[in-house]
Amino acid sequence: MKINAPKSHPRYLSNLYRDKLAYGVKLGITSLQGLTAHGRGEAFDYLLGEKTNDFAKIAIKVATCMLITARHPVISVNGNTAILAPAEIITLANLTNASIEVNLFHASKKRENNIVHYLKKLGAGTVLLPNKGIIPGIDSNRRMISKEGQKDADVILVPLEDGDRTGALVAMGKKVIAIDLNPLSRTAKRANVTIVDNLVRVIPDLICQVKIMRSYKKEKLISIIDSYDNHLVLEKALIYIARRLTLLSRNSDVMV
Ligand code: ATP
Repeated sequence: MKINAPKSHPRYLSNLYRDKLAYGVKLGITSLQGLTAHGRGEAFDYLLGEKTNDFAKIAIKVATCMLITARHPVISVNGNTAILAPAEIITLANLTNASIEVNLFHASKKRENNIVHYLKKLGAGTVLLPNKGIIPGIDSNRRMISKEGQKDADVILVPLEDGDRTGALVAMGKKVIAIDLNPLSRTAKRANVTIVDNLVRVIPDLICQVKIMRSYKKEKLISIIDSYDNHLVLEKALIYIARRLTLLSRNSDVMV
């Protein structure tokens, strides 16, 4: 992969992720539309200060509890996730006994298989593909799921999602953890737990938290889940953005 920005560049990481996504397109893993979806994410990341804020940290802890206590967790992977955090997805799946399942908005058997091969080359075990499972109530390609994966799952982690599918999965009785930089998206509003942060920071944080919290008693994990309020977390994210912008408008050098 060709990295264009030098490490000394002030926006090195942002450029690195763009290079990775462009490489993903070249490998037939990421869709062209995925690049524009990333652009919307970048804009919100900018507003959030490109860091993991307290409201995201709370959601990450609750998501960790849900993944640890789940009967069958599934990590749903699309073309952006597969290229931005492949090794981290595999590690998280191994630590939580989660299945990895490919789920694409823009239908492509070729891209599905490319993602499977890419993840397997990096050490993934089974990577599930949509087969006979269907999510009722949605028309996009994302309705196609695996019977052994999301159809059977009780907890589903969905980095980069569309709101229709998140709502439909919740209606099926699944607990949905979304990673979405946009606290206003339908996904963010419909998920049970929304981590308003960049998936490139969230997945490593989830790995760290699983390593810490897996020694907790089940009752403690469940009480953390029960005391969680997703609406409050989304409200905190929006208030944070509004306050930060107000401060920045008064002093362009302020760092919050
Ligand atoms: P919805 O259907 O939920 O209302 P949408 O139509 O905006 O949302 P999509 O275009 O399907 O959603 O996906 C893009 C979403 O993913 C955006 O909300 C964007 O903020 C988010 N996003 C993009 N890149 C990342 C990333 N690296 N980490 C987390 N979220 C991201």
